[in-house]
Amino acid sequence: MPYRTPVRGVALLTVSTMEASHQDGIGGPDGLERLWTPYRMAYIRGENKPGDDSAGECPFCRISQDRDDERFLVVHRGETAYAVLNLYPYAAGHLMVCPYRHVADYVETTDEEAAEIAAMTKTAVRTLRSVSRAEGFNLGMNQGAAGGAGIAAHLHQHVVPRWVGDTNFLPVIGHTKALPELLRDTRRLLAEAWP
Ligand SMILES: [Zn+2]
Repeated sequence: MPYRTPVRGVALLTVSTMEASHQDGIGGPDGLERLWTPYRMAYIRGENKPGDDSAGECPFCRISQDRDDERFLVVHRGETAYAVLNLYPYAAGHLMVCPYRHVADYVETTDEEAAEIAAMTKTAVRTLRSVSRAEGFNLGMNQGAAGGAGIAAHLHQHVVPRWVGDTNFLPVIGHTKALPELLRDTRRLLAEAWP
């Protein structure tokens, strides 16, 4: 029987472990609940993934050169860095702060770039706090493919707002046909609130 996982009364997901439990060699069910996040498949399949590490293939460079902030979900542009919504967010309002320059390694940033990335990260936290009442944050860079960077060739700092109990339902309810609209709305809210 599929079972339902209520998360703070918001997301009701029907998941089933029956299929898995009937496969040979995987042992019995472990009693852990499983939440499926099929929207991540677009990411796993590599859609929008650059073909190589060059600036010409780099989505962050494309965003930095184009001025269509709404289309590319850019929230703020600074002198050497910009803040953009993640198209595959871990949470609503998941921002990334990137240098305009195609640089992979944090230690290769100029002092100006590093200072602006730091300042912009602070502003992103303040803005997300005021707009979405985020209760916590995950801040950081995954550097290199071994460090878990999705696009390793162009440095980006993640700013992920968090709420107590958000881990299950926020990424899941974000996966709907309405997601592009939702992201556009989120972008507008953050861009308007950005000081
Ligand atoms: Zn780049």
